[in-house]
Amino acid sequence: MDKKELRKVLKISYNEKELEMLRFWKQNEIFKKSVEERPKNKPYIFYDGPPFATGLPQHGNILSIVTKDVFPRYWTMKGHRCERRWGWDCHGLPIESVCEKLLNLKQKNEIYEMGVGEFNEFCRSKVLWYANEWKKTVDRMGKWIEFDNSYKTMDNTYMETVWYIFKKIYTDGLIYKGKKVLFYCPRCETPLSNFEISMDNSYKDITEQSLTAKFELKEELGTFLLAWTTTPWTLIGNVALAVNSKQLYVKIKLNGEYLILIKSKIDAIDEEYEIIKEFKGKELINKEYEPLYKISTSSDKKGYYVIDGGDEVLSDEGTGIIHIALYGEFDYEMIDKYDLPVIQHIDEHGNLAKGPIDWIGLWFKDVDEEVLEDLNHRNLLFKSEDYTHSYPFCYRCDTPLIYNALDAWFINIQQIKPRLLETNKNINWYPKEISKRYQKIIETAPDWCISRNRFWATAMPIWECEDCKDVRVIGSVKELQENAIEEVPDELDLHRHIVDKIHIKCPSCGKVMNRISEVFDCWLESGSMPYAAKHYPFENMEWFQKNFPSDFVSEYIAQVRAWFYYMHVISILLFDDIPFKNVVVNGNLLGDDGTKMSKSKGNFPDPNLIIEKYGADALRIYLMSSQLMRAQDLIFKEEIVKQVYRRFNLLLINVLKFYSMIEIDNITMNIPNENILDRWIVASLNNTIREITQRMDDYDTTEASRILFNFVEDLSTWYIKNSRNRFKSENRQIKLSAMNTLSYVLYNLSKILAPLTPFISEIIYQKLRNRGLVNFSSVHLEFWPDFDEKFIDTEVLNNMEKAKEVVKRSLELRDNAKIPVRQVLEEVTLKGTNLKKNFLDIIAEVINVKRITVEGEEDSELIVELNTKITPELKLEGIARNLIRNLNNYRKQLNLSTKIRIILYLKTDDIEITEALEKHKDKIKKMIQADEIIQNLEGIQEIKKIKIENKLVETHIQVKN
Ligand SMILES: [Zn+2]
Ligand SMILES: [Zn+2]
Repeated sequence: MDKKELRKVLKISYNEKELEMLRFWKQNEIFKKSVEERPKNKPYIFYDGPPFATGLPQHGNILSIVTKDVFPRYWTMKGHRCERRWGWDCHGLPIESVCEKLLNLKQKNEIYEMGVGEFNEFCRSKVLWYANEWKKTVDRMGKWIEFDNSYKTMDNTYMETVWYIFKKIYTDGLIYKGKKVLFYCPRCETPLSNFEISMDNSYKDITEQSLTAKFELKEELGTFLLAWTTTPWTLIGNVALAVNSKQLYVKIKLNGEYLILIKSKIDAIDEEYEIIKEFKGKELINKEYEPLYKISTSSDKKGYYVIDGGDEVLSDEGTGIIHIALYGEFDYEMIDKYDLPVIQHIDEHGNLAKGPIDWIGLWFKDVDEEVLEDLNHRNLLFKSEDYTHSYPFCYRCDTPLIYNALDAWFINIQQIKPRLLETNKNINWYPKEISKRYQKIIETAPDWCISRNRFWATAMPIWECEDCKDVRVIGSVKELQENAIEEVPDELDLHRHIVDKIHIKCPSCGKVMNRISEVFDCWLESGSMPYAAKHYPFENMEWFQKNFPSDFVSEYIAQVRAWFYYMHVISILLFDDIPFKNVVVNGNLLGDDGTKMSKSKGNFPDPNLIIEKYGADALRIYLMSSQLMRAQDLIFKEEIVKQVYRRFNLLLINVLKFYSMIEIDNITMNIPNENILDRWIVASLNNTIREITQRMDDYDTTEASRILFNFVEDLSTWYIKNSRNRFKSENRQIKLSAMNTLSYVLYNLSKILAPLTPFISEIIYQKLRNRGLVNFSSVHLEFWPDFDEKFIDTEVLNNMEKAKEVVKRSLELRDNAKIPVRQVLEEVTLKGTNLKKNFLDIIAEVINVKRITVEGEEDSELIVELNTKITPELKLEGIARNLIRNLNNYRKQLNLSTKIRIILYLKTDDIEITEALEKHKDKIKKMIQADEIIQNLEGIQEIKKIKIENKLVETHIQVKN
């Protein structure tokens, strides 16, 4: 079998090992036991943020799955009862747009034509489309959670709690109906919140034609105000022009016309002009101008004059004169402030509704070109040029968004802001710096628009009288039953196509009340998760009291202003308290080109293949050790997963193989003994337990993983490697004390590995169980270990670090002199250290020298001098060792255990090898367990050739009976 094949087998068998653990956990119901064996009065409360099942789970989801598994496992081992229940986000635009595509619906009115009921039922049928794929990934990653008994945001019970919460906030006077300028998708026909847009990074750089239009002053014909815009279509709805009254403006003469603009932008005029006068913007205020387009409105409000826009009118952008239409945040503020006419010239589908008759019905973006041509034709265009800027697009359907003033329902965030800010101090953010960022998010938060003009979500429980316009809010199914005109079943589905059929008699005038058409923003639903998942307060009142707030939540960074924020808002509104105490924030996993992972770009490997190749543990600890856990972004690199697999998983597997090979009974895990390596590994382990406990308590998996990596490396490449002789010793006491120590180390290691890498941890634990050394059926029923201060011998730890440093430098010196380690050397001289004999013995063994001389000068820095002279004697000794190594490999190939004695047959023509053989015969015989060495191969058929110093030696091993 060549190396490549061998590796392949190794990989398959590793994957197979993990699958075996999964079967073991399932068959023995270890998850269930791990929860139920902990006391009910010592809970660790965890909310698993519900994902959508509308796509396959990707790397980012896996990151979140793992983070949310590590801490519940840790706190369970610390003695807490941590119940975990899966949930699904079922509502909102993500699922609606998937269904629209499947049904080939292009416009909102096509949903009405199809029937809202039919559309909603279709959504319901597709919501859990990929739930099974998720289950597979969740299972395979070793995440423990009650999956089948999941809650769904579309459950009647869930939605009823959302009604209850809304009514409570409404009754407290913190809900209002208002007009707000919001980003609006004319295709989805719904407003989108700013954060939804920034969350998915929906801004794109686009190049458009911007233009500078000329507005003629009424009182001064031939004099024009210059205003610049990137959205020519909005000029049709222009109602005013804003200047900054404090800035300097100029009137210039150019081609026989008079033009007015801000003085600071005069350099942008590249034609010849003459300055007529200079004046403060104040002088322009209230001057009337001719509108570019005359729109008939029913309103008698005054428009088409110059207003003071204050400092928002910047001196370095455009012309210092801003054209005001309905379609901007600042614009709307001005319209409100100056009581300007409201002209909505674009309809809800994004088509022109008011304006030049020939253009009615055009898509708003197509109007740009018409306006440009028209103004040019009418000599009202001063200039047009390409302009590149960042513009928001709908994150679902990629339609350019527009600002739109809409009727909507809001939660008054301003009112509760002081409490949000104050209680943020009680939330522990990991990493800590997120707290500041979150504070800024709260400080700048607008009121929360909770209504959506869509279909598949919880219906808003507001009924409005068709006559007197009185409003009534309903907070439960029971309340609806008591007030409805129609018969209402107990199990009422709270989606709009069902609830819309129910009417209420108006308490004020006795006429019929209809439900308003809006549904809830699905963030109101996600934010209600702590209560709605348990149908609080309709059920589980007592349970809730003991299980709120949560100890721990985790999500990626974009959720700071989303799920975390909304949960916080609702919890303040309901209980004036925080909903969670500890928050772990992940960064984003990026594709190999440093951009968002995207299927179409193919910039990331299939997660299933990664798991198959390297196992779930390697992927888990790769993610947990990375900067992702410090809320920083990370480019996914398969190469690093592979390294982790080799340097962590395979090292551990090899330690275990070694451990399993040693045969001895009556192991006790009694520690420590006098051996310096044993004392050191025990000290190191206890120190590791101390440090990792601190880090895990602090939700810092990056540092916790690093500590584990270091310990595993120490265990494998220092402790085991330098203790081999003792493990193979024929002295039972020596062998047993080494095995006691290793068993003790593996036992504790399996426990501290358990939260981060549950598979390898269990594999180790089961090996100990096979030897009858442990009490539980699974490591995941164990308790987190305490460190023992008395074992942490800092002197031993420090001295071993020095010894390792000496070894490192000596090996470098060997490397420089190009002398392989197997060539024994005479002497190494150390200065600046006072290492005792037991450490020097280890060093001598590892670097293969006969003698170590320590020369005083304790306080000086460490100096290592290696005598690299190879005397003829050393040469012969090197050859002898080389022979021993090769012959022992030969024994291994023949599967000979150390107890089996042999006769060695050997033949060589080389003088040096013959000499080495003569001189070190006794040693060679002892080391290869040979009773006799015969330097003759006559009559022997089966010959094994070995290479010593580039010379061939023919050998044969005969087993002695
Ligand atoms: Zn859209
Ligand atoms: Zn009424």
